[in-house]
Amino acid sequence: MSERKRTGVVVVGSINMDMVAHGMRLPAPGETLVGQQFVMAPGGKGANQAVAAARLGAQVAFVARVGTREHGPALLRALADEGIACEGVVRDGQALPGIAVIMVASEGGENAIVYVPGSNAELSPDDVAASKDALQTAAVVVAQLEVPVPAIAEAFALARATGATTVLNAAPALKVPEALLGLSDWLVLNETEAAQLSGLAGAREAAQALLQRGPRTVVVTLGAEGVLLADAGGRLEHLPAQAVQAVDTVGAGDTFVGGLATGLAEGRSAAEALRLGQAAAAIAVSRSGVQSAMPRRAELGAAFA
Ligand code: ADP
Repeated sequence: MSERKRTGVVVVGSINMDMVAHGMRLPAPGETLVGQQFVMAPGGKGANQAVAAARLGAQVAFVARVGTREHGPALLRALADEGIACEGVVRDGQALPGIAVIMVASEGGENAIVYVPGSNAELSPDDVAASKDALQTAAVVVAQLEVPVPAIAEAFALARATGATTVLNAAPALKVPEALLGLSDWLVLNETEAAQLSGLAGAREAAQALLQRGPRTVVVTLGAEGVLLADAGGRLEHLPAQAVQAVDTVGAGDTFVGGLATGLAEGRSAAEALRLGQAAAAIAVSRSGVQSAMPRRAELGAAFA
């Protein structure tokens, strides 16, 4: 290990600008609807999880690729404002930064989304290898599936070489190569993703089947029901969520993963790290917004001081 100070959490992942237009309902094909509100906010599962961990007090470095045109500079500024180290963010003069165009119906809350990955789709193993030092001095390396799998596999292989813990959040629901599951110490996914990846409907059955494919710990998130933890030691435990009045559950999973990674980087036990993630997510769902709803450490109270 080098003399450099350990960076607690390295997040390898996506970063987008979310453009959210609120109308009374969703427009029909070909229709122009007059909306009531427009909000532009940084998003992307990678950036969201990096922000969640940074707010909770982790030392965070982000590894990504971001287009330098259009809203790219604003995305980079937002990361820096959170105290996230961005040396590993490759600036791309060619590809445009990722965007998600989101329409939300205020009656009923339905939405429709067009996601254009842009520079996220260009993240390469070489881009990731340029962050070798950060990956090899991290306690925890986290990735999701909004950037190419070869880039994630490179990050996890480098991290594993020095004993860092790897956390794969298998979201959105996509096929995951077995080799990547084999490089993942923790596999975190919601019920839909677990069913899709395992081919099994029940969370318990899915978690146990996924354990056989490489990870030593599998966590299935169950929304307001909490999480199911299964590990290679035979543990199978349900940890209930805190009861809160949910206002906006978008991004709950990202806040949870950021909290879990923070807890693991602090050397907490699996159960304690999961509780930290759950406590943070419970606060986030009780407020509207995604990154703007993520709590700071002090808001979690004395149990997590
Ligand atoms: P995703 O956003 O990926 O679909 P979930 O909806 O399963 O993920 O939420 C992730 C975690 O956030 C849950 O395991 C839980 O701890 C917390 N959470 C989500 N919804 C609620 C809720 N309504 N009340 C309390 N906690 C919640």
